[in-house]
Amino acid sequence: MTDRKDEIAGNLAKVERRIAEACAAAGRARDEVTLIVVTKTYPASDVRILAELGVRHVAENRDQDAAPKAAQCADLPLVWHFVGQLQTNKVRSVVGYADLVQSVDRARLVTALSREAVRAGREIGCLVQVALDAEESAPAPGVGGGSREGRVSTGGRGGVAPAEIGELADLIARSPGLRPAGLMTVAPLAGAYAGRPRAAFDRLMDLSTDLRRAHPAATMVSAGMSADLEDAVAAGATHVRVGTAVLGVRAGLG
Ligand SMILES: *Cc1c(COP(=O)(O)O)cnc(C)c1O
Repeated sequence: MTDRKDEIAGNLAKVERRIAEACAAAGRARDEVTLIVVTKTYPASDVRILAELGVRHVAENRDQDAAPKAAQCADLPLVWHFVGQLQTNKVRSVVGYADLVQSVDRARLVTALSREAVRAGREIGCLVQVALDAEESAPAPGVGGGSREGRVSTGGRGGVAPAEIGELADLIARSPGLRPAGLMTVAPLAGAYAGRPRAAFDRLMDLSTDLRRAHPAATMVSAGMSADLEDAVAAGATHVRVGTAVLGVRAGLG
């Protein structure tokens, strides 16, 4: 094995153990949780190594990087997840390689995804991204110059308030070429759930239960990253999205 393959194999084994231990602690079967490796900022050669090591799900957050990478890896048996904020002018490109878009957060994006999925003859699984920092948190006195009210900024990371999930999921279900697949969140850095990933993921599970009443097939609950995957598995997540712990600390933004 190359040095890089050795390194990734070692990291993967550690992450696999963390997931297995978290499943055991929660009384869950290991196969209830799918590992998605977030390959953003890392080259196609790493994606190839991951596939050789048995990884089947990868995620990217920027179309500019993801599109060429996915094209170079088109021969690999991988499911591609898109997890970044998505502008409608990138939708045609993303629909060309992504099997699932986890960051669906507005009606206009659903309309664009549907149009391009139909055009490409593809079916795209859509997860509604939930912003848990948008609820239940009044602005702290004296913070932010007193100008913020009610809805706390999501820090530019996207997502809808919990109250908006149902309407967006209904729209996805009505849209040709799309299917509602579940919910995704990122542990909030602000608001009532800041620093409380387990509470945030428990809340996401409750929202998933509500969603599945109307859309029984929308079973995916995507939560947990390198730092908090145990909390996500304990809460009941079906998918964890792990970058750093498998591929290393990313240089710069991303
Ligand atoms: C980068 C990213 C991850 C992975 O984060 P790590 O801390 O590197 O594991 C997960 N989800 C999303 C949406 C991301 O952008």
